[in-house]
Amino acid sequence: MSFDNLGLSASLLRAIADQGYTTPSPIQAKAIPLILEGRDVMAAAQTGTGKTAAFTLPLLHRLTDGRAVRPNRCRALVLTPTRELAAQVQGSVRDYGKYDGLTSAVVFGGVKINPQIALMRRGIDVLVATPGRLLDLHGQGFIDFSDVEVLVFDEADRMLDMGFIHDIRRIVKLLPVKRQTLMFSATFSAEITQLAQGYMQNPVKVEV
Ligand code: AMP
Repeated sequence: MSFDNLGLSASLLRAIADQGYTTPSPIQAKAIPLILEGRDVMAAAQTGTGKTAAFTLPLLHRLTDGRAVRPNRCRALVLTPTRELAAQVQGSVRDYGKYDGLTSAVVFGGVKINPQIALMRRGIDVLVATPGRLLDLHGQGFIDFSDVEVLVFDEADRMLDMGFIHDIRRIVKLLPVKRQTLMFSATFSAEITQLAQGYMQNPVKVEV
């Protein structure tokens, strides 16, 4: 199995080669083609399986369609439970997207909000965020979700364990109904399945 057969653009394949990856991991081989088809995908994958690239690569592929992001908006929203994970995911977005000219930013709590407000002004293709700070920025009028095309829940089970369910509900209500939704979780618990039923359309389940 090689990355060449998954349907990813030449610029992404070049960035993947730069990372030294030669073979897609099992979660990547299964999830990437489905995400490229536009399906909602619910994937059970632990950290270390290559899950970040499994959603980031097709996400970047989809956003590379020449459309410009509008000020104070984003086209893709990745929600994570912790600031460390948020920063890591944005690092991957940068690494894999380095030839695509898309913009990305990361916002999380515990740091000054003003630099994040400034970042939002021009609009951001891929915004990676923890739920609380994202709602603050929205509440203060600095981010509008009406152009969101893709929503990703990363480590969804940890987000629920950390009590983010109310924030998640508030955020999802603000998003367009017509969007692609991806959910990555270490396990599919009853709560995760319920979350997926509420927020995803006919999701395909992928397990490795
Ligand atoms: P993750 O599960 O997303 O936290 O990724 C775990 C690690 O695997 C990261 O350091 C990635 O850089 C690396 N990785 C992701 N995909 C591949 C791949 N196809 N081949 C080799 N390493 C990879």
